[in-house]
Amino acid sequence: MKKGFVYLVGAGPGRADLITVRGAEALKKADCVIYDKLANPALLKFTRGDAEIIHVPKRIGPRRFASPAPASPDASRGGGRNEAAGVTQQEINELLIEKATGGKILVRLKGGDPCIFGRVAEELAVLCEAGIDFEIVPGVTAGVAVSAYAGIMLTDRDYSSQVLFVTGREAEGKQGSNIDWPLLAKFPGTIVFYMGMSNLDFIAQKLIENGMPEDTPAAVVTEVTFPTQRSVKATLARIGETCEQNDIGPPAIIVIGTAADSDIRLDWFGKMPLFGKNIVLTRDAAGNAEFAEKIIACGGNPVQFETIKIKTLTDSSDFLRTLTEFAGYEWIIFTSANGVTVFFDALEDLGRDARVFGPAKIAAIGGRTADKLSRFGIRADFVPSIFTSEQFGKQMLNFTNLRDKKVLLLRSQVASNELVDLLEKGGAVVKDVAIYTAVTQKSEAGRLVEKIKKGEIDWLTFASPSSANGFFEQIDGEVIKSSRAKIASIGPVTSGQLESLGVNVDVTAGEHTLDGLLVAIEQTYKQD
Ligand code: SAH
Repeated sequence: MKKGFVYLVGAGPGRADLITVRGAEALKKADCVIYDKLANPALLKFTRGDAEIIHVPKRIGPRRFASPAPASPDASRGGGRNEAAGVTQQEINELLIEKATGGKILVRLKGGDPCIFGRVAEELAVLCEAGIDFEIVPGVTAGVAVSAYAGIMLTDRDYSSQVLFVTGREAEGKQGSNIDWPLLAKFPGTIVFYMGMSNLDFIAQKLIENGMPEDTPAAVVTEVTFPTQRSVKATLARIGETCEQNDIGPPAIIVIGTAADSDIRLDWFGKMPLFGKNIVLTRDAAGNAEFAEKIIACGGNPVQFETIKIKTLTDSSDFLRTLTEFAGYEWIIFTSANGVTVFFDALEDLGRDARVFGPAKIAAIGGRTADKLSRFGIRADFVPSIFTSEQFGKQMLNFTNLRDKKVLLLRSQVASNELVDLLEKGGAVVKDVAIYTAVTQKSEAGRLVEKIKKGEIDWLTFASPSSANGFFEQIDGEVIKSSRAKIASIGPVTSGQLESLGVNVDVTAGEHTLDGLLVAIEQTYKQD
């Protein structure tokens, strides 16, 4: 049988856009992706829709704490099969051979750099034996990323001319250890421990026993480059208890040496406007994914909670008939990016394209709607400066005379009548066709409620009235009221809906876009 090809790809330390370009390209080509615990599932966005995705969390040793903080932020770590069970290295090796057949391209995605403490030798040996060709794509290893993301400079011409990468796991079985503790204790540079959290006290004790001063600076950084990154610093003698007090658990990098006493001004990541803020997203799956990227770009931690699902209505006879009459409309109006996507999907299914618009002019509420249109080669003739239906109606009537003009609205079924009324008052003959609707999507409400009650959520965001409805159908408003979570809304219509549900809105975006929503949240911290 024809063999396959394997790319062993370093996923980078965590944050999805820290993978290399070559790594992302291998993912695009993959027929099958096997990824483990430390590789961020957000990277799967690079894969083809039909690629087979296999999650193989490896069974790891005992955790340091009885109730460890979840090792993965909700936003960036998706589920996967075998989640609870764990998979042995032997099983992974067998899977590699099983999947790399029939000319298939397999990506074995591993956290950080695949060749740093990645047990890559075993996987490569298996491939060599089976005669399967492979390529290794390097990645940014977690120990190196602490320099960039926590301001801990591993090298410095004054105090650290050398760096050691050491595994902390091996120390578990003390017999036959390859770690030369006397050498480490005297090492004049920076020591970086991987997999050391369950042995942190042992590591510190061994170093001190062998002569390293108790007050040597030490730092521990957990979830490096993720929005949930946290770090602590202490002396070597106290680093273990400091981690325990601050609930710092794996995955973490331990840095020992002068480098650990870093200059706080270098921690640009920790100073980002939304760093450390847990922000709940309540849109549909695609909308949440888009919003999550924006939040991560501001240093925040997106917690995804789907409240709605987009249901297309483009198989209705009303829509299909209207499509044959497009050329008779003066203006065709899209009020959301979702509407544009749904519309062009329908055109594709019907074997049609943008020529259906004929001479009609096209208007878009919102920059995102206009952007989406431009992806299909359509430049909107009119986009209002303020993105509400009310402003759209007013500005549109100022922009052009609509008296006796035929206007077609292609939008959500749950939209209000305000826009139709305004356009009709301006003399337009309006046809309103629903091309999609939002239906409530059930999510894991129990888990989110628990987080809210524990005070782990900073913000709940709402980008449409339907997501407000979908959310409060699943979660009791009282839970929010008695918590520290604040509510942010994209605009007055959504705020109105939230208020009618008895919810107190803390901020409403001035500019009614996702970016505007984030600016409004950031503003609250500037006032503090
Ligand atoms: N190949 C990986 C390392 C795998 S060993 C790399 O190059 O980064 C697993 C150890 O890596 C963890 O125990 C932890 O010490 C470290 N690690 C990996 N990702 C990390 C992250 N995002 N934050 C902190 N430590 C991480």
